Amino acid sequence: MLDLSAFQNDPIMHSLRAAEPVFWRNPHTAPFAEALADVGLSAADVHDAAARLQRFAAYFLAAFPETAATQGLIESPLLVSKTWHQHYHLPAHRVLIKADNQLPISGAIKARGGIYEVLLHAETLALQHGLLRDTDDDYSKLHSDAARALFGQYSVAVGSTGNLGLSIGMMAAKLGFRAVVHMSADARQWKKDKLREHGAIVVEYAGDYGMAVAAGRQAAEQDPYAYFVDDESSRHLFLGYAVAGLRLKAQLDALQITVDAHHPLIVYLPCGVGGGPGGVAFGLKLALGDAVQCVFAEPTHSPCMLLGVYTGLHDAISVQDIGLDNITIADGLAVGRASGFVGRAMQRSLSAFYTLTDSQLAATWRAVYEQEGLYLEPSAAAGFAGLPYFADTPHATHLVWVTGGGLQPQAAIQEYLATCHVE
Ligand SMILES: *Cc1c(COP(=O)(O)O)cnc(C)c1O
Repeated sequence: MLDLSAFQNDPIMHSLRAAEPVFWRNPHTAPFAEALADVGLSAADVHDAAARLQRFAAYFLAAFPETAATQGLIESPLLVSKTWHQHYHLPAHRVLIKADNQLPISGAIKARGGIYEVLLHAETLALQHGLLRDTDDDYSKLHSDAARALFGQYSVAVGSTGNLGLSIGMMAAKLGFRAVVHMSADARQWKKDKLREHGAIVVEYAGDYGMAVAAGRQAAEQDPYAYFVDDESSRHLFLGYAVAGLRLKAQLDALQITVDAHHPLIVYLPCGVGGGPGGVAFGLKLALGDAVQCVFAEPTHSPCMLLGVYTGLHDAISVQDIGLDNITIADGLAVGRASGFVGRAMQRSLSAFYTLTDSQLAATWRAVYEQEGLYLEPSAAAGFAGLPYFADTPHATHLVWVTGGGLQPQAAIQEYLATCHVE
């Protein structure tokens, strides 16, 4: 039994239990030079991941011609807001949008970490079996019948609310692996359809994300030829996401955005289990240090990371433990228990957390669609709701990380438009 008596009259806990929006500025933040020790990974690890992705550029150019625009890298544009800055009377270039909905292959942030981990596994096997001579070899060789024959002997499995499964399933299937995606009940039908269309096996569960992950992990454990991508604790996923932070620096420079002690960059990231936003935040901190402040957004019904970091219990507590149902229109964020690894790694590096209700999210999503012309999925718009908390920070640039929805069929958007009512 969890002992939460220390939080009996705690106002934040009261709001979390009542599924009311909360804002919490993290009092435990430390200078990054110090907080870095919590992570157990270094800048060298992120550079290693970036170099691996660079090696695979030749593969992507061969297998996914749409990556030609980014020279075979899976990268998204950094946009300047069209109208959003006006809500806060800020100049246009003070509100930026990192458009991960435009990432190739899965149209979501999971194309960073998820695909990275599949590539790492493929590279390891290819080197072991002599398909690649060494890491200087031509990786376009992996887009071949010989490679598919090798990878076809192995399976890659994952549990997901949708986008991680989409990223890993599409990537693994393309390489020739047997791709098995364990999907939670909240996963959207079109994501399952798309995966099956691309040759992945989709296993559906009536339960939530945690259950899908547990089932996937268990199925893979019994099979020596199976590789399970563990969204709840994978360092590889985290490093794949972290590469984004390193690459953002050049995009900021190209827009002539100064980020330093007097010009903070405040980044708003939607958080599910934590790997995506946690990894991105880690990369941003490595690239920009204390000049960047990272803020996590979660649904009021699924505030797992805030709950874990706030109580210090991390993955020992779930939103169900405080009476929440983990049901939200933000399907990408419908996670009841946060990654313990990410919570512990990033607890002194994150500046603040907030939650928003489904109706706030629906209103935000609709406004972003109408005013910015962005075709997101609801969870991907959660970062926009963080600006009011920081809009008056002097000389700040605000960066809203939009995280998915790029592959949505028009029908899904129409459905959201019809159902995303503003109460
Ligand atoms: C998965 C996801 C996130 C959050 O990533 P986590 O690693 O689960 O924290 C945010 N937005 C979208 C659209 C996602 O699919």
